[in-house]
Amino acid sequence: MRTYVPTPEWIVLDWHHACIAAELLCIQRCTGCGRWRHPPRRFCPACQSDQATFEPVTGSGSVLSFAVSHRSLDPGWQAHAPYATLLVELDEGPRLLAATTTPPGEIRIGQRLAVRTEALSENFVLVWADPASHDEPTSMAPRARGNPHD
Ligand SMILES: [Zn+2]
Repeated sequence: MRTYVPTPEWIVLDWHHACIAAELLCIQRCTGCGRWRHPPRRFCPACQSDQATFEPVTGSGSVLSFAVSHRSLDPGWQAHAPYATLLVELDEGPRLLAATTTPPGEIRIGQRLAVRTEALSENFVLVWADPASHDEPTSMAPRARGNPHD
């Protein structure tokens, strides 16, 4: 069963389009002072500039927090419950939410992650984060469960 795929608007849609075009996770960056920011905003909170670009980032980060869903309002995700949603802190600084294929019991605060994007439509990317390979226990197969939207 497929998951619901939203259609973002305005500057958030620009962010999705940047990630789709680059086939990488991109983050908004102030042209004036270089500060990374997410979610996308019109003005820089540091220097108030309205000039910004979307630039690819390393995709490296760590688990800042996570929530475990035991039920989902979206029938497309229900078959995968319980599943975790991660709050990721990128090495560049910004924080963002990400889906994960990692079972909730194997997630640890501070765990190193590799973040990737997957285009679910021409207007929407889903952000995924799973343990970085050097941090991955040998017994774990994070992609064995498949993607919940399949
Ligand atoms: Zn700035």
